[in-house]
Amino acid sequence: MTPPAFTQVTIPRPDDWHVHFRDGAMLEAVVPFTARQFGRAIVMPNLTPPITTVEEALSYKARIQAAVPDGVSFDPLMTCYLTDTANADEISTGFKDGVFTAAKMYPANATTNSAAGVTDIANVHGVFERMQRDGMPLLIHGESTDQAVDVFDREAVFIDQVLSNLVQDFPDLKIVFEHVTTQEAVQFVRDRHAVRPGFIAATITVHHLMINRSDLFRGGMRPHLYCLPIAKREKHRLALCEAAISGPGPFFLGTDTAPHARPAKESACGCAGVFSAPVAMEAYTQVFDEEGALDQLAAFASENGPAFYDMDVNAETLTLEKTAVSTVPSVTSSEGDEVQPFLADEGTSWRCV
Ligand SMILES: [Zn+2]
Repeated sequence: MTPPAFTQVTIPRPDDWHVHFRDGAMLEAVVPFTARQFGRAIVMPNLTPPITTVEEALSYKARIQAAVPDGVSFDPLMTCYLTDTANADEISTGFKDGVFTAAKMYPANATTNSAAGVTDIANVHGVFERMQRDGMPLLIHGESTDQAVDVFDREAVFIDQVLSNLVQDFPDLKIVFEHVTTQEAVQFVRDRHAVRPGFIAATITVHHLMINRSDLFRGGMRPHLYCLPIAKREKHRLALCEAAISGPGPFFLGTDTAPHARPAKESACGCAGVFSAPVAMEAYTQVFDEEGALDQLAAFASENGPAFYDMDVNAETLTLEKTAVSTVPSVTSSEGDEVQPFLADEGTSWRCV
């Protein structure tokens, strides 16, 4: 006899440990989708120009808070963008004053709005030393920017050439390997966690749990599934699912939701980024349901992240229920920019109650 299928699940209110809100009219249009389901979100600093000072972070935070719908409690956690000339004193002060939760390192030109990123990791060693002393987490976009490296290999090459040395050089630095996409990254985090628990973690997006690289070309090119790091082979997707449902540990939820206006995606040189905020918890829950692992959803979505960041689990709860599949409407900003969400056509089989 098969056990009865779950039709409802309640978890502590989850957090999203990796979001892009952009700015201006786009920010106003997308913030409510994250705030409706998540208690907190780590906000990426890659605006143009990027957020590098305490003052800029406070001002950006105020713009985000102003876009949160009335009656919704939502706490944006701000990050500092590391450049070659990053100021260790500014970053340390921002962290100690509770303005910066973490600092984000983009290798220069690795993805959208990363031109001001770090060109050589040696340039920020002084900053890493201070962060290590302060206990401030470093969030890493982990891809090689060597254009000679195959785009599907860039994460694995980054582990070999940069990350494995970094964890040796800074053993007490708390590192989040953001939006991991490969078996190699999952293994690296597992191995490092076994040696230094609490000092390494990884976020996993919902689109990397649901699509593989063949899906990018299913029936034609799918620009709305194009993101960086790019989706990999099926064996990697399976490794990510296994990590996500593995319960208490170093893997937690980070959507990397990243809105672009439709013309920027559907163009001769389309932008990287998947806008998943409108379906995030619905889609993650669908994945955990399909994996028969709804009992591990709370660890991944609500508990592992706060444990790593030394924060309390949210006191409120979120309930999702199984439903008839419905499509997902696109989102339009007050300036008329339309954004197509992830799963716009496929829909999801769960909904937030
Ligand atoms: Zn991102």
